[in-house]
Amino acid sequence: MPKRAAIFIDRDGTLIDDVGYIKKISEVRFYPFTIEALSLLQPHFCFFIITNQSGIGKGLTTEDEVSVVNQYIVETLKKEGINIEEVYSCPHKSEDDCACKKPKTQFIEKANEQHDIDLNKSFIIGDHPSDVQCGINAGIFPIYLLTGHGTMHQHEIDAETVVCPNILEASKYIITKHNLV
Ligand SMILES: [Mg+2]
Ligand SMILES: [Zn+2]
Repeated sequence: MPKRAAIFIDRDGTLIDDVGYIKKISEVRFYPFTIEALSLLQPHFCFFIITNQSGIGKGLTTEDEVSVVNQYIVETLKKEGINIEEVYSCPHKSEDDCACKKPKTQFIEKANEQHDIDLNKSFIIGDHPSDVQCGINAGIFPIYLLTGHGTMHQHEIDAETVVCPNILEASKYIITKHNLV
């Protein structure tokens, strides 16, 4: 079996509105273009969500709350024909100096071990400089989005980083770049 290419997707500010630490599914608001964006990519890639949820470490959310929200996101996408292989969630705050919080690459390595991914053909998409840096650290092509915190932190990323207004434009960029149409 050939290795599969993957898209590592940030959650808040990328798939859904970043409204702070989400505790309940009623706070989940998908962007209107999220489904179309993932539908374009689904035939060519497998999907993983990697999300920093430091609200857990800070005592603002719990593992259970975050897990229910993640499950709801996966199930909502599944109803639209989009399959998320795994959701990797880091519960730590920066001071914990864990091995999994983006820009650390532990979750990408784990996905690669469990799913045999073609990292050379894979992408990471997110609205924070730590998403871009995670991609660089793992040797995966990063795409920076201007949704969520994107506009606010854009000055922190290198000029050569690919920037897209949102995940739909990022999907179109990937499709065109790889002649997948
Ligand atoms: Mg984000
Ligand atoms: Zn962590």
